[in-house]
Amino acid sequence: MPVQLLGLPQDNNSSYLTGPADAPAAIRDALHCDSSNLSTECGLDLGAPGIWLDTGDAPINGLSGQAAFDSIHAAVQARVAAGPTLALGGDHSISWPSIAATAANHAGLTVLHIDAHPDLYDTLQDNPFSHASPFARLMEHRVITRLVQVGIRTLNPHQAAQADRFGVEIITMREIARAQQLDLGNPFYLSLDLDALDPAFAPGVSHHEPGGLSTRELLTLIQGVKGRLVGADLVELNPTRDLNGVTAMVAAKFTKELIARLHRDADVPDA
Ligand code: MN
Ligand code: MN
Repeated sequence: MPVQLLGLPQDNNSSYLTGPADAPAAIRDALHCDSSNLSTECGLDLGAPGIWLDTGDAPINGLSGQAAFDSIHAAVQARVAAGPTLALGGDHSISWPSIAATAANHAGLTVLHIDAHPDLYDTLQDNPFSHASPFARLMEHRVITRLVQVGIRTLNPHQAAQADRFGVEIITMREIARAQQLDLGNPFYLSLDLDALDPAFAPGVSHHEPGGLSTRELLTLIQGVKGRLVGADLVELNPTRDLNGVTAMVAAKFTKELIARLHRDADVPDA
């Protein structure tokens, strides 16, 4: 079952800046750029046939709100049936339908959410689909029961109350060493917002939040965290904010390493 790569070029739920709709194309360009190759750090050659498949973009151009949600849900659902799926956003609003479609195929799904922000707003700017709200929606609809957030450094009183209400497990940047002990179980989904990284490593994001993870720390976490990964998304690259394409290359690096991890975990059945 090859890993299914899916582009979700949507940014109309962004609260501050648009731009992430251009991310899937920028990540693909960086992935195939001659400045690097397709080998992962574990030595897997992603240029070999059968390991992964680029299935193109979901047909969401011009859609918003529930119509976009439904289209993304259907696109992810179709891929999940064919193999573990990696969705490239897009802003973080794509995670609600992407995780919902994955959870429908994997009972008891845990989500590891790596981000500077908890994205637990009840609403922001009167938009329940906001990129600041996907994890509130997932918890209140009981799509998932266990949510673990790592890298958080912007927890305000409203979102702290939301986290308490939903029983969210949070490992903030100040206590990041605790992330080494995490066990996500089987199955789990990884939602990666690039602004979890320090802006020094990933300037091409809409919300610069200093004090974040290094690229190396995040690679080590993704490669080594305990559990069986069955699906993932990588969101919030904003190419209009990038410097010399460095963040697109960071996103391509995580795309390769996430494909490798999904491939490694693919043949184990759900617990
Ligand atoms: Mn986010
Ligand atoms: Mn964020």
